[in-house]
Amino acid sequence: MNFFKLTENKKLFKNTYWGLFSTKDRTETEMEEINKIVENRNKFVKDFQIKKISTLPSKLKKELEKTYPYYLDHVEIYKTEDNKYIIVNSPYTNNTCQKYNELLSLGWKVIDKLYFNNATTFIKIIDPEDLILTKKEQAHNFYKDHDKTPILCECGETYSYFHKSRHMKSKYHIGITNIIKKHI
Ligand SMILES: [Zn+2]
Repeated sequence: MNFFKLTENKKLFKNTYWGLFSTKDRTETEMEEINKIVENRNKFVKDFQIKKISTLPSKLKKELEKTYPYYLDHVEIYKTEDNKYIIVNSPYTNNTCQKYNELLSLGWKVIDKLYFNNATTFIKIIDPEDLILTKKEQAHNFYKDHDKTPILCECGETYSYFHKSRHMKSKYHIGITNIIKKHI
């Protein structure tokens, strides 16, 4: 039997990597471990009000890129009832590993294990509204940075990033660059 069939939310876990493992030939000890994980999964759905499994929206890609590929394993993405994303990440690590602490410092939180006992499950909850805000902030910073930095032109004058095209069309710039071209 596949693991997902042991859970209360078969539809939800049917298409996960974990959900497709089989209970075939498992020892009693292994089954105990699996049943505990199943219990944790049932609790996870309730605690975090999981609505459905989600694919990776491009806005989440950047969030994942912050965490090096080395730290990502068995990733599952869910959407909650209030439309937040939960990234579930279960790499093989425990609290004696450097990897574990690195993940905490990258903003991941530890929850009850959702994979196997030798892996730790970390989550990140992402509010899509925060991502939009972050994008706005990024744009704001970009404008601020570029507006301040004068760019030295080959004609000897400086212009700000946002006045580049105006400068390139100016009589002064065209006149000087024509002289330069003649002498090359
Ligand atoms: Zn110029």
